[in-house]
Amino acid sequence: MNNAKPLLSDLQLLDILSLSNYAVAVHVTEDAVIQFANDAMLAIWGKGGSVIGKSLEEALPELKGQPFIDLFKRVWNEGITVSGTDTPADLKINGELKTFYFDYEYRAIKNAQGQTYAILHTAFDVTERYLGKEREQNLTEELRASNEELSAANEELNAANEELTQSQEALRKIYDELADSNARFRSMVSQAPVGICIIRASDLMVTDANDSYLELAGKKREDLENHTIWDAVPEAAEAYAPIMNEVISSGEAFIAREHEVMLIRNGVPENVFLDFVYEPMWQNEVVSAIMVLAIDVTDKVNARIEVQRAEELHRFSIDAANGATWHMDAETHEFTVSPRLREIFDLPPDGPVTYDNILSKIPADYHDSINQGIQASVAQNQSYTMEHPIVYADGSRRWVRASGKLYAAEGPRRAHFSGLILDITAQVESREAILNLNNELAAANEELLSTNEELNATIDELRVTRDELKQSQLEVEQSEEALRFALHAANLGTFDLDPATNRFKGNAMLKSWFGLGPDDEIEFSKAINIIAERDRNNVLSAIQDALNFRYGGHYDIEYTIINPLDPRPRYVRAKGQTLFNARQQPVRFSGTVQDITEERRALMELERSYEQERLSKEAAQLGTFDMDLLANTLEWDERCRTLFGISHKDPVSYDKDFLPGLHPDDRERVTDVIKDVFVKSVNNGNYDVEYRTIGADDQKIRWVRAKGKALFNEHDEPVRFIGSVLDITDQKQDDIRKSAFISMVSHELKTPLTSLKAYVQLLGAKARKDSDHFAAGALGKVEVQVNKMHNMIDGFLNLSRLEAGKIQLNKTSFDLSDVVKDIMDETLLLGATHAIKLLPCESISVFADKDKIGHVISNFISNAIKYSPRGSNIDVNCEKTGNNIKVSVKDEGVGIKSQDLSKLFDRFYRVENANTQHVSGFGIGLYLSAEIIERHHGKIGVESEPGSGSTFWFTIPVNK
Ligand code: ADP
Repeated sequence: MNNAKPLLSDLQLLDILSLSNYAVAVHVTEDAVIQFANDAMLAIWGKGGSVIGKSLEEALPELKGQPFIDLFKRVWNEGITVSGTDTPADLKINGELKTFYFDYEYRAIKNAQGQTYAILHTAFDVTERYLGKEREQNLTEELRASNEELSAANEELNAANEELTQSQEALRKIYDELADSNARFRSMVSQAPVGICIIRASDLMVTDANDSYLELAGKKREDLENHTIWDAVPEAAEAYAPIMNEVISSGEAFIAREHEVMLIRNGVPENVFLDFVYEPMWQNEVVSAIMVLAIDVTDKVNARIEVQRAEELHRFSIDAANGATWHMDAETHEFTVSPRLREIFDLPPDGPVTYDNILSKIPADYHDSINQGIQASVAQNQSYTMEHPIVYADGSRRWVRASGKLYAAEGPRRAHFSGLILDITAQVESREAILNLNNELAAANEELLSTNEELNATIDELRVTRDELKQSQLEVEQSEEALRFALHAANLGTFDLDPATNRFKGNAMLKSWFGLGPDDEIEFSKAINIIAERDRNNVLSAIQDALNFRYGGHYDIEYTIINPLDPRPRYVRAKGQTLFNARQQPVRFSGTVQDITEERRALMELERSYEQERLSKEAAQLGTFDMDLLANTLEWDERCRTLFGISHKDPVSYDKDFLPGLHPDDRERVTDVIKDVFVKSVNNGNYDVEYRTIGADDQKIRWVRAKGKALFNEHDEPVRFIGSVLDITDQKQDDIRKSAFISMVSHELKTPLTSLKAYVQLLGAKARKDSDHFAAGALGKVEVQVNKMHNMIDGFLNLSRLEAGKIQLNKTSFDLSDVVKDIMDETLLLGATHAIKLLPCESISVFADKDKIGHVISNFISNAIKYSPRGSNIDVNCEKTGNNIKVSVKDEGVGIKSQDLSKLFDRFYRVENANTQHVSGFGIGLYLSAEIIERHHGKIGVESEPGSGSTFWFTIPVNK
């Protein structure tokens, strides 16, 4: 082979080109006449070979209006090459116009002279690629947009997330706080000194109860919690279920004060007094639960009842002694006296009384010793007792025993003097009378005196106790109001200490106790200063201990608050509990403070009055009895038992101990008296009687004075009978000894006197016969005196007969007016010193003991003569009224003071004053008269005005 390479012919080349997949066409002229187009180009055009030789516009008319035909022109004319990628062209394929995309080139093919002789047209259908890219672009766009949205959403989500975290944080805090406050509330409830119980309103289920409540109700926790309240405490259901239902439906709290409730505590029924509140608790405007707050006030109520009882006893004791009392404020010297004192000192019934008023009634020679006595008693802080007389305007005297004491200020009570004055005239007189009669009897009087002294001291103490009891009662009453409020949940002071900051918080109640307003801050150090000094350190160390994990966090202490704005000390009981975190550090210390001032006071008062009552009773040897007529029980204290000679300690009863213990001679009388005591209308329940007892164990006879009172319910039925008894055996024995002595003397005198009288009468007759006028007159006077003496001795003898129970009535029918006339005649025979007049007296027949009634009348007349001036008038009157006849003797004599009137008929009682001291007598005439009239079932009495005379009278039934 030579170096001539084998070359393809033009046709061969065209054939090969026509087979290429790459679309190729060759155009000539500026109209782009198609010179050549391979199959691929024809396929693009959608035409057959017929297009060869045609201009492009002819071959593809759809290109009109598209840029390609012009582009060919420019390529041809300017000899340039244009190309494009992804260029759209609308072509009609199979009669349908469609957009295709091409990468194309129109290249001018030039000859050596640079003239264009053909245009090489290549094209590559990129429709597929283009559309794919477009789709991809659209997708990317969409993706971007959605990405954007997504990121916005993400942002929102983030923000929402943030919020969520925040609110979760807040929620967690709230939860924490809630848990904290719940814990605090629970801890407060659990350790509150007030019983607290929470009852669900819908089914009355007990959901919560604190220890105090369990203790108060006397139930176990498992018996209460998750039971309905009335299943747990059925004994209270009847009374309180309707009330609780009402609280639930009305939403109004129910407050009970001192309700007496029967509770079965630990299986044992007990009557207790409760203060309690049913407090509705609200949720969504309905009552969701009832909070029961309860305090057991049994002790307080009992204390008050006891105080009342003790006071009643004191009153009897003072009454029994008929004492007068006075009271003087040590600061203001304000002086208050009892009505009885005015009576004793003869002072006007009202208007102020001063110490000098009183002193002026006492003889001057006693003043020094009285003042000294008082001063000494103040200096030694002891009571004083002294005896002195009182001199009245008319010169008469009475004796009193005065005692008193200075009492230091205590609590709300100011310093004061209190004292007691007893009229002891009778004692002093009887003492003197006996001294006159016999020295031996004087010794007995000493005993009487000492008994009286004891009585006096007792009554003194009783009097003081009574004042204090009054005060205590007042305070108890005042406190009731306070307590009622204290019950309301708000009335517990509450405190809360944050140990981290030492910030101290409290409710308004607590602040007010510490002298702060509701909005004031509590400064710990200042609050501590308000606590009484003696308690301060205790409180501080108790708080320290409470904050110490090792000691369990409990806090329970009582202390006194002395608030500068309120000088009254306030006793409080504080209870609390510390909450510790896991590291055993205190995180919260909270609790309650309860005002216990009133309980403390009442308790102290009670203790004091008990002690005083005990001391007083001991000093007075006063016994007490207390009979519950509903429960049919009788209580006797030790002294009372001694008086009935009982040594055992078992319960006593009216039938087994009281009745058999009475002396048989007194039994009927005493039981009759008690029968009357139980009928309110008779004597308003007052009881005052003297009787003998025979000791159950020792058979000893004792004299007793009993004084008391029956208490009635609203139907006037007796429910309780209480009082005191005093041993008066010694006094009685004195009286008996005195009577024995008198009776002995009288018997001894009676015989010689009788013969003396006979001799005087004999001598008188002889003198008259001898006309010895002097001797006859003198003997007449002797006879009058002998008769007087005779009458006196008769009186004594009657007395002893009376006391020996030997006076018998010897009743006959007689005309009373005759008896009166006989006595008057006899009296006139003795010498007409007075103008005695018998007012017209019809004849009245009576059935009575003639001698004894006569004795009464002659006693009245001889007294009228004795106690009125010579020559004055004496009127004797008798009249019949209904079934009674009344005899009266009226004189114009010295008269009798009202204070003496009631005692005239007592044995040995004499009014001692300037008018009577020269009149002889023993004070037994009226006593005998009263005994005689009583045995006739009559009445005896006197009306009198000092200075203007007296009228003594008696009545007896006509036919008895
Ligand atoms: P006696 O006259 O022996 O003292 P009575 O028992 O008869 O005893 O009287 C008691 C007292 O009553 C007398 O001491 C006297 O003070 C007072 N009394 C009695 N009658 C009168 C009278 N008519 N006027 C004033 N006082 C009288």
